[in-house]
Amino acid sequence: MLEYEVALANILAQMPAAKPELIPVRHAHRRILAAPVLAPIPLPPFDNSSMDGYAVRAADTLPENSELRITGRVDTGKSPETSVEPGCCARIFTGAALPPGADAVIMQEDTRLDPEKPGSIRIVEGVKPWENVRFRGEDIAAGAPAGLHGVEISLGHLNLFAALGISQVSVARQPTLGILATGSELRESDENLSAGGIFESNRAGLTALFQAAGAVPQAFPLVKDTLADTQAALEAAFDQNDLVVTSGGVSVGELDFVKSAFQAMGGEMEFWKIAMRPGKPFVFGRWREKFLFGLPGNPVSAFVTALLLVRPALRRWQGAIATSLPPSCGILAETLDNPGTRRHFVRVTLDETEMVRPAGTQASHILSSLAAANGLVDVPPAGSLAAGSVVRVIRWE
Ligand code: AMP
Ligand code: MG
Repeated sequence: MLEYEVALANILAQMPAAKPELIPVRHAHRRILAAPVLAPIPLPPFDNSSMDGYAVRAADTLPENSELRITGRVDTGKSPETSVEPGCCARIFTGAALPPGADAVIMQEDTRLDPEKPGSIRIVEGVKPWENVRFRGEDIAAGAPAGLHGVEISLGHLNLFAALGISQVSVARQPTLGILATGSELRESDENLSAGGIFESNRAGLTALFQAAGAVPQAFPLVKDTLADTQAALEAAFDQNDLVVTSGGVSVGELDFVKSAFQAMGGEMEFWKIAMRPGKPFVFGRWREKFLFGLPGNPVSAFVTALLLVRPALRRWQGAIATSLPPSCGILAETLDNPGTRRHFVRVTLDETEMVRPAGTQASHILSSLAAANGLVDVPPAGSLAAGSVVRVIRWE
C-alpha cells in the first residue's frame, strides 16, 4: 500500500500546467497568479509628507524655538508650486508632495502659530533630516515583483495592485469538477427513505470544500450500483469537466463498480489504496488529460481523502506553489493512541486556547464527530502522541 506522501506526490506530479486567464483585480481574491505581477510605477510615486504640518529644511528647526516664515502651501493632489528657501516653510498635508528645498516635515503639533507674527510658525520641537517624509519607491520600486507566480492573491495583494493602478491580473483558470455519488442505497433529501435507504451526504460538503479550494464543482445525480449506470455517469462527468470525483464503489465488493467502469471507458488506473485511516480504498486514475479521484463512500473517509488528496491536486492544477492547508499547532489535552498498522488522521477540535481534543468517536461512518471537529491530527501507526505535546493540526475550519 502506498504511503500518503508518495500517493500525493504522484498526484501532484501529474497535474497539467495551469491555464492562464486575464480577470479584473476586483474578482481576483484567492485566485492563483499565473505570472509574476511587476510594479508598473514606484510606490509611493513621489516623496510626500506622512503628517499634517510644515515642510522645512531640518537644519532650520534647530536650535528649537526658532521661527520660520510660511511662504507656500502644498495641498494633497497638487504638485508643489514653490520651493522652501532657508528660514522658510510651506504648509503641507498628509500625502502631499514634498516641495523642492525641503528635507523634512515638522508635525503641526510641534509648532505654534504666534498671533503677533501672522505668517510665521515657532518651532517647539525640531526635526531630523527626512523625518516624516515617505520616499518615492520605498514601498515598492518600479519593476519589482508585487506578486509572485503561483501565489494566492490575498486581500493585501488587492490593495497593492490597486495602488499600482493594476486593474487586471493573469490568474490560473479554475478547474471544473464533476462530483458523483454512487450507491443504490442513496436517496435525495426530498425522497422518502424506503427500507434500506439513506440520505446521500457526501456531495454537499465536498462541493463546498472544492469551491473553497478554487474549483468550480458540479454535483451530478445519484448513481446506482451497476456497471452500466456507473460508466454512463462517469462518461457524462468527464465529458463536462476537467476533473471527476466519485464517492463510493471503490472497495472490493461485487457492488463496487467505479474502477471497472472507469477502465471500461478507457481510463487508466494510476493507483488504488493508501496506507491511511480513514481513506484506504482511494483511487487515482487518468483519462486522457483528465483525472479521476475515486473516494471511499464512508462519509468521513470521503471527506478526509478529499481534504488530503483532492484539495492539493486542485491547488496544483491552478499552479499554486503551496498545496497544503496553512499549518496550525496546538497542545494535546489527552494522549492519542494508534494501535493500527496505518497512520490515523484523528478528528480533533483545536480551540481558542490552542488545546487539541479528539472530537468524538473515530469510526469512518461517524458524522457527529466530523461536525464537531475543525481539524485532523496525524497519529503514526503503532504509535501515540502524548498528552501535553505540541502537535500539528490540519485545520479546515
Ligand atoms: P462504499 O464505499 O460504496 O462501499 O460505501 C461505504 C459506506 O458508505 C456504505 O455504508 C455506504 O452506504 C456509505 N455511503 C457511500 N456513499 C455515500 C454517500 N454519498 N452518502 C452517504 N453514505 C454513503
Ligand atoms: Mg457503495
